[in-house]
Amino acid sequence: MGLDKIFQNQKSGKREAHQQTASGSYGMAASASAEATKAGEQVLRDGGNAADALIAMQFALTSTEGINTGIGASGFLTYYDSEQSETKVMNGHSKAPAAVTSDLFLDEDRNVIPFDERSTSPQAIGVPGIMKLMETAHKRYGTMPLDRLIDPAIKLAEKGYRVNALWERTIEQFRYRMGEEARKVFMPNGNPLKEGDTVKQPDLANALKIIRDKGFESVYEGEIADAIVAAVQDLGGQMTKKDLLDYQVIVEEPLWSGYREFNFAFPVPPDGGGFAVAQLLKLLEPFNIDQYDPRAWEKYFLLAEAMRLTQSDLAAYIGDPDFVSIPLEGLLHPDYLEERQSLINFKYRSERMEFGDPWKYQDGKPNRLIRQESAEQGMETTHFTAVDCWGNVAACTSSIERMFGTGIMVPGYGFLLNNDLTDFSPKPGGANEPDGSKRPVSSKSPTIGFHDGKPFFTLGSPGGFTIIASVLQVLLNVVDHKMDLKEAIAEPRIYISADLSVQWEDGIAEAAKEKLNSIGYKVDTGYKVKTSDSRIGDVQAILINPSTGYMYGAADSPRPGMAGGPEELPKK
Ligand code: GLU
Repeated sequence: MGLDKIFQNQKSGKREAHQQTASGSYGMAASASAEATKAGEQVLRDGGNAADALIAMQFALTSTEGINTGIGASGFLTYYDSEQSETKVMNGHSKAPAAVTSDLFLDEDRNVIPFDERSTSPQAIGVPGIMKLMETAHKRYGTMPLDRLIDPAIKLAEKGYRVNALWERTIEQFRYRMGEEARKVFMPNGNPLKEGDTVKQPDLANALKIIRDKGFESVYEGEIADAIVAAVQDLGGQMTKKDLLDYQVIVEEPLWSGYREFNFAFPVPPDGGGFAVAQLLKLLEPFNIDQYDPRAWEKYFLLAEAMRLTQSDLAAYIGDPDFVSIPLEGLLHPDYLEERQSLINFKYRSERMEFGDPWKYQDGKPNRLIRQESAEQGMETTHFTAVDCWGNVAACTSSIERMFGTGIMVPGYGFLLNNDLTDFSPKPGGANEPDGSKRPVSSKSPTIGFHDGKPFFTLGSPGGFTIIASVLQVLLNVVDHKMDLKEAIAEPRIYISADLSVQWEDGIAEAAKEKLNSIGYKVDTGYKVKTSDSRIGDVQAILINPSTGYMYGAADSPRPGMAGGPEELPKK
């Protein structure tokens, strides 16, 4: 019944000139870059499947959104294979070089190195997993030859790409992060690129051609691997050729969690975003969010209190499972959730929201219970997704962490290296401390929702910790408030930090803000995210009606995203 109502409220077609919405029966692609969506859409039109389209989009994004992703990035990919009725999570997250130790981000006096400094240092570069991730997806699920999936990206890099407003404002705001090599691309002759300029990236085209001709191995053991290691080591970083050679993608079962009549598949630790959205849904379920107006203060209050609870559990318990044991079962156990729910009530705002003790609800032994200061994360990254006419679903969030990553570009190959290791807590101790060959905790949440075993919804977002808030709110807007998908994405979002400061977007009623202020949230001293040029997250999503196969795609604003799919049955 809930499902019918969701689909009754969807609006069809391309509703804006810039095509941030689309609908159709033959496949759908959505990303934060129109050119990348077009690359994915064309693959679907030519008979490629969701994996092929997703890989083509990742490559195109390398050329058009290299400030957020690229060959030096990491990512998580959630994939539903319709033939096998099987969902897998592929973990291509960055890994610390083997030589890393827990004092990675401490200075000689054992003080934490300030974020801007540590995040632009070669010590912040994780062994990049994204190309191995794409290789794994291609081998397991892909049907098209690699050159077909890379060529659109080569064309964009070689022939030139029209700089958009996102580039212009990002270069302006984050130019201080860029190293010398990156400046040559983004600020040629010292002049920052502006909207409407054409940028050519011959070095990147060179790297993409090497991958096309020699395969993904070139990034892990060939010419590109040598260039990465040389770039890092020249600056004093500790990544070695062996670190790249040893890198492996993990393919595993997703974290499954129910909400109402739906079941959702999320990434598993070291991803913390999936756990957080799953726990938030469980915490909120009995409060029946659908009884409130979408902008009622009561709803924001419930979201705020639940987010505080989940954030404290996340900071205390989630880490790389190869290094720490994680009480995932306990954290989602009905009795534990009940205990946590009892901390949320409308009479007062709980002063402290400490982490709970989920080990009471599952077997196993806690490693350590050190209250952890969490890491600092950005507002960047990119999420893209594809569904094909056979019902396969692919969702990927990929990232170089901060805008321009470390700002270190590999000379001659035109791509930036990530600063993913700043996703570790900078202080030693606790589940997410730095360590050799360990993966930091991520907030990425590429999600697939199911009804009666069939996928009906996929979504994800960039935004560091705010990813969790964005995915949660869009999901609730669709599932509980039954909003049209684009409207669910456009609806103003909020994010609450552990210190009670609230980030909020235009459209949240004054009365609701006043009420939140009066109970101790810091809406006024938190910050307003302008919807005209940036927002909390950037959600790309697709809804699929399981009974008809009809799809609705939507890209967020204000990034120049697009949704689109074939108009007729693909040739194959
Ligand atoms: N590095 C972050 C993560 O993996 C993402 C950064 C961002 O979205 O800005 O969760």
